[in-house]
Amino acid sequence: MEIIHVSAECYPVAKAGGLGDVVGALPKYQNKAGHSAKVVMPMYRTKFLYNNDFIVDAKGSAYLGNRFFEYTIIKEATNKLGFDLYLVDINGLLDREKIYGYDDDSERFTAFQIAVVDWVNGWQHNPDVIHCHDHHTALIPFMMQSCLAYQTKLRSVPTILTIHNAQYQGWMGWDKANYIPTWDSWKRGQLDWENTINPLASGVKCAWKVTTVSNSYMSELRLNSNGLEKLFEYEKGKCYGILNGIDNEVWNPKTDTYIDNHFTFKSATKGKQKNKDLICERFGLDNKLPMFVFIGRLVGEKAADLLPAAIEAIMYSFYGKCSILILGSGDTTIEWQLASFNERYKGYYYADIGYNETLSHLMYAGADFLLMPSRVEPCGLNQMYSMRYGTVPMVRSTGGLQDTVKDMGETDGFGIRFNNASIGDIHYSVSRAITVFNDKTHFNWMRKFMMQIDHSWESTVAEYDKVYG
Ligand code: ADP
Repeated sequence: MEIIHVSAECYPVAKAGGLGDVVGALPKYQNKAGHSAKVVMPMYRTKFLYNNDFIVDAKGSAYLGNRFFEYTIIKEATNKLGFDLYLVDINGLLDREKIYGYDDDSERFTAFQIAVVDWVNGWQHNPDVIHCHDHHTALIPFMMQSCLAYQTKLRSVPTILTIHNAQYQGWMGWDKANYIPTWDSWKRGQLDWENTINPLASGVKCAWKVTTVSNSYMSELRLNSNGLEKLFEYEKGKCYGILNGIDNEVWNPKTDTYIDNHFTFKSATKGKQKNKDLICERFGLDNKLPMFVFIGRLVGEKAADLLPAAIEAIMYSFYGKCSILILGSGDTTIEWQLASFNERYKGYYYADIGYNETLSHLMYAGADFLLMPSRVEPCGLNQMYSMRYGTVPMVRSTGGLQDTVKDMGETDGFGIRFNNASIGDIHYSVSRAITVFNDKTHFNWMRKFMMQIDHSWESTVAEYDKVYG
């Protein structure tokens, strides 16, 4: 099948979170399985753009409301990612340094989607599937079916929308309705949700199939999805939960190019200790104590707002018995609070505020426990990376965390789970973790067991094939 993935992120071109990881890996593994999968994304001013060669594939123009714009589609010249990568360049709109966070994001991503549909409409053939990811691309199914310029050719092309995060929906006021190229006005209901244009809701209504990144998250969306609960209930017949895989080539402790001390499940104890030594030296921590890490966006969804108080509680009870290392950025108040502890708990705590891919790999490789108290976690990749690197996941029972981590109290359990995003539950989990850390036989068994669990993309690719079929 010829599968066109349309996304705002794709690792290593541009990544802000899990979406980038998934879109950077899924097409590669689909191609290994015999498909012809391609990725189309905006052309941002990223390092990848400047460090690689591109050729011009197509040029075109369209309107965003009254604004005329020209677009250029460039293609990475060497297929170095394992799939054809196309970048959409729209001068003044997409060529920015960051992916998101601009006041005109609605204009940017609507123009991006128009350019993609306009480009595919100009092909002599049709692809077998257009696979959209999250709200930045979720107007595409509507455009293909209802925009007068495109519906004749593209109406019959199957579309699938994968929801990586339903919290963000891309809301736009109805004053922006003319951004979408001339459409059948009686189809207004396919764009609307509670009197705004809601791209995510439109995608759920118009895409032929909808998937999310775990079964539990699919069920949770019917109870809690930032206002779309009834829509997910109504559309459940075409919705599927498919757990993400992880890219075992990038995330492999035996070959990881970001770390110097490689290891396998057999050499995990020694190999991890060497990585831990490096971390401890760098951040002034004690290499004999159990090390807890948090890696992620410092936002409410990840329950990062609980971290400052939880750390105070942990330090009050377990001062000198564990160390904590945090890597993340996000809410400035949380950033400031976490950084302010660097002096107070020196020797046992450090918060590195920012985004640092290299350090994140070292942390998965060297830490003993990874904390994820998330309020919402559609799939979660960190816990799967941490399992692959023998770092025990400590997770709240929600979404994909619930589907991938088994508590050590269960048969073949290897992780720590808790029910509430609360300081009490985090504190209690840390006490369980310290106890099991000191039980070396049990701890080493957990480590080795989880490192051998298969989270590869191959089985995920087969699940997507069923939905495409
Ligand atoms: P989300 O997409 O909601 O942010 P996921 O668990 O799906 O969460 O994916 C998070 C990805 O982003 C992981 O690869 C994680 O290592 C990475 N990540 C998040 N924050 C940082 C950071 N500050 N530095 C390096 N990597 C980070």
